[in-house]
Amino acid sequence: MKTKKLLSLVLAGTLALSLTACGGSDDAVASIKKKGTITMVTNASFEPFEYKDGDTVIGIDAEIGQAIADDLGVKLEIQDIDFNSCIPSLTSGKADFCAAGMSVTEERKKNVDFTDTYFDASQMILVGSDSTIAGGSDINDKTVGVQQGTTGDTYVTNEDGSNDVKVKEVKRYTKLTDAVSDLTAGRIDAVVGDNFPLKKLQANNPETTKLLDDALTTETYAIAVPKGSNLKDEINSLLKKMQGDGSLEEIFSKYISE
Ligand code: GLN
Repeated sequence: MKTKKLLSLVLAGTLALSLTACGGSDDAVASIKKKGTITMVTNASFEPFEYKDGDTVIGIDAEIGQAIADDLGVKLEIQDIDFNSCIPSLTSGKADFCAAGMSVTEERKKNVDFTDTYFDASQMILVGSDSTIAGGSDINDKTVGVQQGTTGDTYVTNEDGSNDVKVKEVKRYTKLTDAVSDLTAGRIDAVVGDNFPLKKLQANNPETTKLLDDALTTETYAIAVPKGSNLKDEINSLLKKMQGDGSLEEIFSKYISE
């Protein structure tokens, strides 16, 4: 009898501990404030949203991340990891939020919660400057580079047959910049990725690449948090405030000229 009671207490304790460890803590905001640091994960090869200036991660999401930390009165720690590892970092409780130009998808919603959206995006196609590929239908039977685990990857891979794409081969990279290097070296025929990062990459390779007009998808970016984290409400009120006082727009226009 006594042993049984003790066992159930131990089990309950273990359950409570493991819930906290996977980010299911009911007061994430309080524990972040107590720690004095908030951890953001991102993949810093996604200019203008996140990229590096020396060792520092800068860009739109880095500034939004800083605003979140300032709002809570804590220090911001940014971890630059593979895009593919961002959601696992949240589900394992290693990070508090992910700001990575991450598009909201039903699939991702199974594992994380999203804040309100803060940016509209689409998938576009970057090709070599003398390519005959002129639009979405021309990538069929071609070798196409994408960033692994992104919505561009999902679109081009077309595993569920939700679009008309049927490429010859999908080459997956951890960084879009590496895909563009392979494009300019002639190892792949096209790169599919998010519109603004591709615009930046095109501008960095003006002689060798061109960006096509076709927008293949419509997507929206939001910040991801562990499921059930009350940081979501905190970020949503901050985003509303920043939309109202123009500070969000100010961040966008600092990094995006058009
Ligand atoms: N918006 C895309 C996605 O969510 C790409 C994001 C990224 O590469 N950082 O999949």
